[in-house]
Amino acid sequence: MEFVCRRCNHITKQKPYRVTTEDGGVVLLNMLVCASCARLAKSLGLPTVKMESAKRAAKTKGVQAMTDSKRQPVQPPPSIR
Ligand SMILES: [Zn+2]
Repeated sequence: MEFVCRRCNHITKQKPYRVTTEDGGVVLLNMLVCASCARLAKSLGLPTVKMESAKRAAKTKGVQAMTDSKRQPVQPPPSIR
């Protein structure tokens, strides 16, 4: 199964990783990335979850369809409130 990394836009056949960022219970970031981007996210201290089963990956299909922007900022906006 292949997917497009949400960070570097490369098609990879490796298992996707999900990177999420939360601030006060609000999810600021939730995207599927490739293994190397996941490693980078980990080094930045972001929670990174390996997508083990296809069942769980299918759950995020709606999220993928929703986001059609090519790039998403990794860092949260400076003034969110
Ligand atoms: Zn990537």
